[in-house]
Amino acid sequence: MNLPETEKKRIIIIGGGFAGISLAKKLKNVSAQVVLIDKRNYHTFQPLLYQVSTSGLEPDSIAYPIRKVLRKLSDFHFRWAKVDRVDPARQEVHTDMGSVRYDYLVMATGTRTNFFGNTDIQEHAMPMKTVPQALNIRSLMLQNFEKADDSPKESERMALLNFCIVGAGPTGVELAGAFAELKRNVFPKDYQHLNIDEMEIHLFEGSDRVLAPMSPKASKRAQHFLERLGVKIHLNTIVKDYNGEVLTMDNGTTMYTKNFIWTAGVTGAMVAGFETDNFVEHLNRFKVNSFNQVAGYENIFAVGDIAYMETEAYPKGHPQVAQPAIQQGAHLARNFRHLMQGRPMIPFKYFDKGTMATVGRNKAVVDLKKFRFGGFVAWFIWMFIHLWFLVGFRNRVIVFFNWVYNYINYDKAARLIIRSYNPKA
Ligand SMILES: Cc1cc2nc3c(=O)[nH]c(=O)nc-3n(C[C@H](O)[C@H](O)[C@H](O)COP(=O)(O)OP(=O)(O)OC[C@H]3O[C@@H](n4cnc5c(N)ncnc54)[C@H](O)[C@@H]3O)c2cc1C
Repeated sequence: MNLPETEKKRIIIIGGGFAGISLAKKLKNVSAQVVLIDKRNYHTFQPLLYQVSTSGLEPDSIAYPIRKVLRKLSDFHFRWAKVDRVDPARQEVHTDMGSVRYDYLVMATGTRTNFFGNTDIQEHAMPMKTVPQALNIRSLMLQNFEKADDSPKESERMALLNFCIVGAGPTGVELAGAFAELKRNVFPKDYQHLNIDEMEIHLFEGSDRVLAPMSPKASKRAQHFLERLGVKIHLNTIVKDYNGEVLTMDNGTTMYTKNFIWTAGVTGAMVAGFETDNFVEHLNRFKVNSFNQVAGYENIFAVGDIAYMETEAYPKGHPQVAQPAIQQGAHLARNFRHLMQGRPMIPFKYFDKGTMATVGRNKAVVDLKKFRFGGFVAWFIWMFIHLWFLVGFRNRVIVFFNWVYNYINYDKAARLIIRSYNPKA
């Protein structure tokens, strides 16, 4: 990699997600050369991916160029590259566009979809972790509606219009709610000759409630909202297989579907070169101490979803959501300042601001430390918080405008097949 060699220490950050960006932004007062490497040249606001999948937002409004976010840093370099391997002994990072030496390395690679070793499901399911994957869901949904509109066979139409979502965490719940709203408000106007009752939305969950990471009250409320919207919820049900046409549950029941979306779990986006002592194998997350230092190294750190920090309050590590990632990134920047000045580092402490999920128009659930509530106020707060954390003023304006437009018109305007469904995306 062609980077200027200077007297300054070089900090390499791998990953421009919530953690990597939060860290890099705050490094502006640290005397070091900062290099951020990401396989995409944009930051993705993952909490709103489901709105891209369901035609509520254009992809450009939830993605933002990394170079633009960080252009105010003085000795900053972005490299658009995929990291293949790290060599801790030689302090080198190997990428598809060459190698580079580091003084300090920060792993902020986040997670990828976990298929739990089920190769059939991996081959045929649609995951939703990236913008291209969200566009895949949107395209396939619309392509299947187009096919159904022209199909004389009821069984074929039923499979084309059957939407099965596996995993009733916040992503699955939000997606199911958004599909239900399309069914209620949008598709009946677009496909006037289709019997819209043939569209079904099924949500599968292995545990005994939806939104398992939230309070039982929030779960109950979200389930009620979803059922009112017509979503069919299958609790205590493991989806064992999907071969591209038939979904099989652990109780042997089968179902035909051409829309199979997998939101059932994630695993760390690990990079080769580390020993099993450095990370928790079944989670693929780096074991880090309270300074986010990776076990076994003083100059390698991990932040965000890929970091596994056991604390008294979080004996199983922090939740893999945006807040711990943002806070760890900002905190590590502070510790870098201390390191460069020869001062001791400060342990990280997570401040839990609460959790929330939306189920659709006027419906959301919020869990704060002392209060738990749902309905319109929760939905309003959900919108405000998401706008606040969205990267870039332009994106905030566009998303706000879209939401107002969709709300007034009961519409989701981005119903476009820009490129056909591509399973390799
Ligand atoms: C669909 C969805 C909805 C979500 N909704 C919410 C929500 O409502 N609220 C909430 O708090 N959290 C939500 N989350 C979780 C939240 O998005 C994550 O916790 C957060 O993104 C973690 O930040 P991170 O920086 O650790 O990783 P990420 O944001 O995933 O960033 C990782 C970055 O690393 C890059 N990368 C990975 N591997 C390599 C490599 N080998 N080489 C180069 N670059 C690499 C990736 O391109 C990416 O840019 C959601 C996640 C998903 C997928």
